[in-house]
Amino acid sequence: MKNYDVVIVGSGVIGTSIAYHLSSRLGTGKDILLLDKASTSCHGNTQRSAAKIRDTVASQTNLDLCRSSIEAYKYYQDSGVDLGLKFEGYLWLMTDDQRSRNQTSIDTMLRNGVNIEILDEFSITKLLPNLNLKLEKRTRELLRLEDITCALFGKNCGSIDPELLTRFYERRFLEMGGNKLYNCEVRSLVFDKSDGETNHLLMDLSRVHGVITDKGKVLAENVVLATGAYTQFLLEGKHGIHSGLKGTKKRQLYELATKDFDSIKCINSYFPFTILPYKGIYLYLIKEGEVVVGCSDNVGRPFTLENDPQPEPQFFRNCVMPILIEYFPFLSRAIEKGTTAGMYDYSAEGAPNIDEVINGLVIANGSSGRGIMTADAIGRITASMILGEEETELFGRKKFNVSKLSIDPKKRNVEPELFSL
Ligand SMILES: Cc1cc2nc3c(=O)[nH]c(=O)nc-3n(C[C@H](O)[C@H](O)[C@H](O)COP(=O)(O)OP(=O)(O)OC[C@H]3O[C@@H](n4cnc5c(N)ncnc54)[C@H](O)[C@@H]3O)c2cc1C
Repeated sequence: MKNYDVVIVGSGVIGTSIAYHLSSRLGTGKDILLLDKASTSCHGNTQRSAAKIRDTVASQTNLDLCRSSIEAYKYYQDSGVDLGLKFEGYLWLMTDDQRSRNQTSIDTMLRNGVNIEILDEFSITKLLPNLNLKLEKRTRELLRLEDITCALFGKNCGSIDPELLTRFYERRFLEMGGNKLYNCEVRSLVFDKSDGETNHLLMDLSRVHGVITDKGKVLAENVVLATGAYTQFLLEGKHGIHSGLKGTKKRQLYELATKDFDSIKCINSYFPFTILPYKGIYLYLIKEGEVVVGCSDNVGRPFTLENDPQPEPQFFRNCVMPILIEYFPFLSRAIEKGTTAGMYDYSAEGAPNIDEVINGLVIANGSSGRGIMTADAIGRITASMILGEEETELFGRKKFNVSKLSIDPKKRNVEPELFSL
């Protein structure tokens, strides 16, 4: 049985980025195995993602991760790799109250050189002529909504194709001699290298030596769990080891389409990624006459970790549509075309967790709904951790202390993300 240097479990955007950066640093991927229970890479939450990217964050840690990743994506695409990278902008619509609560964050972003502009009602209307800024008094009272008075427009923000990005990392890793094993599910961790049955009471739990899968044991000096939201099933669920995750949240996407000519007119021109002031509802254009609406558990319902989260059309129709059509009345004539749902894996401050939690076991999770926009930096930092380095060099050469993202509160050094509607 081959004993790998590193087994990376999870071939989403985080696992493939780690595989790419680690093999680039080593100059070869021949002793690295990328393993997934799915039959292809980009199968989990990466595939379900809206895949928007932005640097409109107030925490310095988040800014370092987003900025490094976005600049790296630009570099890869400029070098001839099509990643579907586009910069159509991010529009955060705000009420008066939200503007004042976020003023400190806005000042921080401006101080940090984030390319943003605050738009007044007139400029918003120029950008989105069919947005209803002023609501009727009755609607405001009934749905507890408020008028939109301003917006934050992020210019260095846009989208990327998550499949093209993941496949790019995977392809480069394989070209460097990397190994992959898909359709293979990890059931638990190997604490004892011997082949026979082990008495659990005598087992040394201080070092991991590989993974036990539905296809047998895979031994490795280092195991990396890039299993996102599913990490809880493996660590808390199987071994009672803390995964660093605070919780998970379901995020659902609904495709709305219309053949109605007036509605098409409303959504066939430029339409930035737009976030409503309420309940984390956002929408973006996918093609003429079609938008995707995203919504999450903020809309008043409990949430739990689900292995295969399913969309809930009733929830969308009853809790999200009434709010949406107050601001965008033309969408009342749209029909639902498709839906998808996935999980966000949350960390304490909304920044990722990268840590060696037991000797030989590294976790890279907690991307908190920002995994696509930070994946490149997460790959670099995790590679440095496996190589035993204290510091990593982000894209653009900024140094980043690897232990900053530890789940040990004594080492973790992450400011909470204060920019939020
Ligand atoms: C609806 C939605 C919209 C989103 N929008 C955005 C956005 O606009 N911008 C952004 O940056 N982020 C967004 N996110 C978040 C982003 O998609 C995630 O942060 C990111 O995809 C996480 O990547 P990952 O590689 O950690 O996890 P995943 O892509 O989930 O990959 C984990 C992999 O681990 C594998 N795996 C799990 N358990 C096992 C096991 N036991 N054995 C073997 N393999 C296993 C799974 O099969 C999977 O392939 C969104 C998420 C959702 C759900």
